[in-house]
Amino acid sequence: MEREDKIVTGIFLGLGTNEGDRVENLKMALTLINEEVGDITALSGVYETDPWGFESSNRFLNMVANVTTRLVPAALLKKTQEIEKKLGRVRSQVRFSSRSMDVDILLFGNRVINQRKLTVPHPLIPERRFVLVPLCDLIPGRIHPVLKQTFSELLIQCRDTGNVSRTEISLELPGKRKG
Ligand code: ATP
Ligand code: CA
Ligand code: CA
Repeated sequence: MEREDKIVTGIFLGLGTNEGDRVENLKMALTLINEEVGDITALSGVYETDPWGFESSNRFLNMVANVTTRLVPAALLKKTQEIEKKLGRVRSQVRFSSRSMDVDILLFGNRVINQRKLTVPHPLIPERRFVLVPLCDLIPGRIHPVLKQTFSELLIQCRDTGNVSRTEISLELPGKRKG
C-alpha cells in the first residue's frame, strides 16, 4: 500500500462508542491504532456524550487521539475502517446510529482533502461539541486549515447543545509504561 515519504504528525482521530463495553472498546481501538497506524502521541480526556443526530438511551464515550503515521490518507481510512470492523462495528444503512466503534479522521496535519470517500478536515467538526471539547484538550490554539479559526474559537461559537461531560476514565498511551 502507498506510503508517505516521511512520518506525518498532527493527525487527529475522533473515537466514539455507545455499544458493548465502551471502555474496553476504546482501549482495544487505541491498541490497534498504535500497532497498525502509528504511534499515539497524546490522548484527550474521555467524555460521556449525548447521541448526536439520533435518539438513543445509550450514551457515547468520545475521545480524540493524536497519532503519527506513514499511511497516506486513503490507506489510513481503510485501516481505521478495518479496526472498526474488528471491534464489531456493523454498518447500518441509517446514517447516525449506535455503534461499537467509530473512528473518524478529524485532521491530517494541515492538509485539505476532498476525495469521494474522504473529506478532511472532517466537515462536521464545528457542529459537534463531542469533537470540539476533546480536541480542545489537545490543540485549543491550532488553526482549522479551512475555517482559519482556532478550535477554541470554534468551540465558543458552536451551537450544539448536546451534553459533553468529562469522565474519570484515564487511558494510558498504548505501549508506554507508567513511571
Ligand atoms: P459522520 O462522518 O457524520 O461522523 P459516521 O461516522 O456515522 O458519520 P460512517 O458510517 O462511519 O459515518 O462513515 C461513512 C463514510 O464517511 C465512510 O465510508 C467514509 O468513506 C466517509 N468519510 C468521509 N470523510 C471521512 C473522514 N474524515 N473520516 C472518516 N470517514 C470519512
Ligand atoms: Ca463519526
Ligand atoms: Ca465514521
